[in-house]
Amino acid sequence: MTKHLELRISKLQKLLKKLNLDGLIVYQGANMKYLTEFNGGTGDGVVVVGVDSVRLITDARYEEDYKTRLPEGVDLKITRAYYEEAVATVVAFQIKKLAFESDLPYNVYDYIDELLPADISFDALPAAIEVLREVKDDSELTALRKAANASVKAFNDLLPYIKAGITERQVANELDRLQKHYGAEKASFDTIVASGYRSALPHGEATDKVIEDGDVVTIDFGYYVDGYTSDITRTIAVGNISDELKEVYAIVHQANKNAIEVVKPGISGSEVDRVARDYITEHGYGTAYNHSTGHGVGLDIHEGPALSARSSDELQEGHLLTIEPGVYLSGLGGVRIEDDIIVTKDGYENLTDGITKDLIIIEA
Ligand code: ZN
Ligand code: ZN
Repeated sequence: MTKHLELRISKLQKLLKKLNLDGLIVYQGANMKYLTEFNGGTGDGVVVVGVDSVRLITDARYEEDYKTRLPEGVDLKITRAYYEEAVATVVAFQIKKLAFESDLPYNVYDYIDELLPADISFDALPAAIEVLREVKDDSELTALRKAANASVKAFNDLLPYIKAGITERQVANELDRLQKHYGAEKASFDTIVASGYRSALPHGEATDKVIEDGDVVTIDFGYYVDGYTSDITRTIAVGNISDELKEVYAIVHQANKNAIEVVKPGISGSEVDRVARDYITEHGYGTAYNHSTGHGVGLDIHEGPALSARSSDELQEGHLLTIEPGVYLSGLGGVRIEDDIIVTKDGYENLTDGITKDLIIIEA
């Protein structure tokens, strides 16, 4: 089997053993991809993991593509009857204590449970593959660097395009076009372009609002390259923005830098959050910082670990984190600055420092 897949699967099998389980049905698309490099999504197949075997069950739509790059050690079954085949596989693998991902839809759970022989137990497994996925291996870090790189180039190319008089949607469309030009496969969420009063909405998807002189524009975007995504935010100024927004920008910028500076293995997710939040609170905007400081990124846009006040996660070498403090003032506007950071052996690597964090002012 391909070395990195072999390692992922053996880690999962060890974890199952520790939990006194001898099999797992994997339904979630990103988890199937993580274990087998299958490109179908959630609902396009299932993976059965046993003590010493792994089988991917999917249908003919994926057969041609997947057969040509079938990892050694993954057994492939082609059928539309995923769940019947999964149960037959569980029996063939002699699994007696079977688990499912805790977010498996109830109807799928119920269907499989009905088919399973009575002597096989079937229990929810708390996030297990998701926890393994938090620490990225070298092949994943390579893909994440490529994704961040493409996004950095596209954003820098976008800047001359932005001006007063065009709409948020035009900006989002142009960014999408540039991302594809730099090799991105697809966006991982609808690109956020929130200008003027709309920038006070942390998740303001692009609309037909026209960008005006005096607006700040928050652009939050993530694009996949080789299956892994970026997640970046910059807030820029168009024309003359108010002194208060300039001050808020400087505060968020410093909070972002302070939080990044403390990133290293062993520090807790709540500590990173506290560093950013304390700085913003000391400068009077604590109540306007209404979300957590960051999250993991990988096959999914939102993964562990969590960088929040309630987080009990501890940073480890190989984590990929966002650091994204923000301040949002209703009616006035908001500022968010988000970088993608790899936790290294003795500190961090910033994948997104190719985009300046000094306030970019575009002449209106
Ligand atoms: Zn983001
Ligand atoms: Zn984010």
